[in-house]
Amino acid sequence: MKIYNTLTKQKEEFVPIEEGKVSMYVCGPTVYNYIHIGNARPMIMFDTVRRYFEYKGYEVNYVSNFTDVDDKIIKKANEEGVSSEEISQRYIAETKRDMEALHVRPATIHPQATQEIDGMIEMIKTLIDKGYAYPVSDGTVYFAVRRFEEYGKLSHKDIDDLEGGHRSINVSGDEKRDPLDFVLWKPKKEGEPYWESPWCQGRPGWHIECSVMSKRYLGDTIDIHAGGEDLVFPHHENEIAQSEAANGVPFAHYWMHNGFLNIDNKKMSKSLGNFFTVRDIEEKYDLQVLRFFMLSAHYRSPLNFSADLMASAKSGLERIRTAGERLLDLKTKAAGDVTEDEKKLLEEAKEYVTKFEAAMEDDFNTADAVSAVFELVKYANTNVDEKSSAGLVECIYEMMKDLMDVLGVDLKAKEDDLDAHVQEMIEKRQQARKDKNFALADQIRDELLAEGIQLLDTREGVKWKKV
Ligand code: AMP
Ligand code: ZN
Repeated sequence: MKIYNTLTKQKEEFVPIEEGKVSMYVCGPTVYNYIHIGNARPMIMFDTVRRYFEYKGYEVNYVSNFTDVDDKIIKKANEEGVSSEEISQRYIAETKRDMEALHVRPATIHPQATQEIDGMIEMIKTLIDKGYAYPVSDGTVYFAVRRFEEYGKLSHKDIDDLEGGHRSINVSGDEKRDPLDFVLWKPKKEGEPYWESPWCQGRPGWHIECSVMSKRYLGDTIDIHAGGEDLVFPHHENEIAQSEAANGVPFAHYWMHNGFLNIDNKKMSKSLGNFFTVRDIEEKYDLQVLRFFMLSAHYRSPLNFSADLMASAKSGLERIRTAGERLLDLKTKAAGDVTEDEKKLLEEAKEYVTKFEAAMEDDFNTADAVSAVFELVKYANTNVDEKSSAGLVECIYEMMKDLMDVLGVDLKAKEDDLDAHVQEMIEKRQQARKDKNFALADQIRDELLAEGIQLLDTREGVKWKKV
């Protein structure tokens, strides 16, 4: 299995620290609002990476944090006149709900920064003892970047170029020894949450949080550390400096970064205001379509979000699901085990599974993996029919289902939910008709049509079909 490693800028063979096991840390969101679909990209992508490892029989220890102490959280709390904790707890719950709706499985553990302050103080003490960090008179503790000789190795930046870029913002009189130095601990301001520490009442910097949570739950050296590409510098560069300086061993063997989800070729972000939350999208689309859309591109490529691409993801997913439904239907009518002649068909079908796996093993190329699923669908549509044995139908269905499970997309649409929703609308429409409120009846019919459901008034009553 090959993984593109940001650290070495090349695809490398994956060799786990411990055979059959993978330890993964994925930087999670800062919880002060609903997540947008840009934030959903790393969640979906690295959940798929985890699913593929598990499909291959690995045991995955998957840790993903919530950053629950941050300026943005404090600002939102002040705006609403509530505590920071109330804001972060609320949006952790909302984010978990969105993750579930996106079929992003819960991490093995979701640590929260505010629950890990002791570990942060310990690591900062170690860094000071080893001469990698220093406190100044107001109680701020800085990491001394130049003390860590390999600084810049992840982002491939030259420390002297960085210095030039930073010089202008070095405030005179600042006790920070070097403009590159970053904060490990900072004093509280009025009205902010704070913790006791040897240096001052205050709170941790963002970067130290991940170094500590990764160490606590996964150990000093882990297999994979991941996040969006905006985290490479400074966040992950700083994490490496802190962890390797404190622990004296390499932090992560493989660094994976996803490209941006864009709108009109610009990064989707809260600050630019060009974002859709997962909730916005949920109103218009099945979130399985969103997940399928995200996986139709390679994770390192930028991906432009558009209604057209979502429409094509929707029809692609429907094509796969229709093939699955057809197989289920054939299965109810078929009988017998796989025949001698059919064994050859099964072997041919397995080639698409091999193709899918080869794509995933090539740095998780989900775009090619999805193509392999389409090829399997086409193969099933042309080679499996009423004459096929139950054994063959079942095997091909299971193949399709297993691949879709790796992608985290259900082969079978949740008809029950849809059915209940349509039945409810039909009843409302019948009532409107009884009341002679034909405008409302028509409106309900049109609403369903917009959702892709056509009502058919037949002699046996109202029926419906997907269009
Ligand atoms: P944040 O809450 O901004 O720290 O982001 C949480 C995660 O979402 C990080 O891994 C970011 O890199 C990632 N992320 C944020 N915006 C985007 C985007 N437009 N496309 C892809 N990933 C993003
Ligand atoms: Zn992080």
